[in-house]
Amino acid sequence: MSCAFDLAHYGELIAAAQAGGYRFAHFEGAPAQGTVILRHDVDLSLDAALRMAEIEHDASATATYFLMTESVFYNLDSTEGVAAIARLRELGHRVAQHVVYPNASQDNCLDPVVSWHNPDPEYMRAPLADGRINVMQEPWFDPATYRSDSNQHWRSGCPHDELRAGAFPWLQLLTHPEIWAFHGATMGQTMRAMLDAEKERRLQQLHEDRIDLS
Ligand SMILES: [Zn+2]
Ligand SMILES: [Zn+2]
Repeated sequence: MSCAFDLAHYGELIAAAQAGGYRFAHFEGAPAQGTVILRHDVDLSLDAALRMAEIEHDASATATYFLMTESVFYNLDSTEGVAAIARLRELGHRVAQHVVYPNASQDNCLDPVVSWHNPDPEYMRAPLADGRINVMQEPWFDPATYRSDSNQHWRSGCPHDELRAGAFPWLQLLTHPEIWAFHGATMGQTMRAMLDAEKERRLQQLHEDRIDLS
């Protein structure tokens, strides 16, 4: 099995977790034995998040999508953003807040869970004063039961074999949808592929906005 960062292998990771006997869980209660918490920090692309969400839904998996409320890349208040949140929920997923510290606004539309974007060590694992869950606080974070695909690199290797073998007591698995939905052998190539797709999307939006593109 090739450990490509593409949606086909993401589907294989989900299948491996299921073959290993895991159930999918969310950030509520303490992590239970035999569960995988699928966490997605959506840094750049709602389209990528929706594509990943469909794959999970088809595999009967549910995840928590952390969307940025102050992103320069997408706008949750746009029709596109509102539709994306609705579709994620329709597919059975949870939707929570991904934000730059300390701007975790109380947003009643989102689940009471927060993941910080590019956190510094000082506050990375600190609980929030208002009782919402920080995904990196105890007991939801433990280095032994955490894997992340940051910048298209698994620090401890792709976890599909360990998932299939049931080797983790439980796991928080952080993946960034953009890395899997767009293709490139390196993060730089993947980002350029995303920008190519983005250009097409923007041209379509300009057309819909009655801009003369002739
Ligand atoms: Zn793999
Ligand atoms: Zn982020």
